[in-house]
Amino acid sequence: MTVDTLRHRVRHLLLTDRLPPADSHFRLRAGPASGLRCCCCDQPISAGTEYGPEFRDSRGWRFHPQCHAVWKEERFNLSESGTPT
Ligand SMILES: [Zn+2]
Repeated sequence: MTVDTLRHRVRHLLLTDRLPPADSHFRLRAGPASGLRCCCCDQPISAGTEYGPEFRDSRGWRFHPQCHAVWKEERFNLSESGTPT
């Protein structure tokens, strides 16, 4: 998946409330890859580091480091453009 494709996907997921707003988590967990699917790109996180922002509803979110970065950027872009979330 290219970064552009990923960016589109993340934006769509944010707009349809299938990804949480990036600024609402209160803790960011980072650990070894679990092999479970990434919440952004739906691909298994099979190597390297896995990011897991934790929210007060304790839902388990998992991201590739790259997906996590795109998620944060797109969340910022959406709030800058005034799109309601
Ligand atoms: Zn991913």
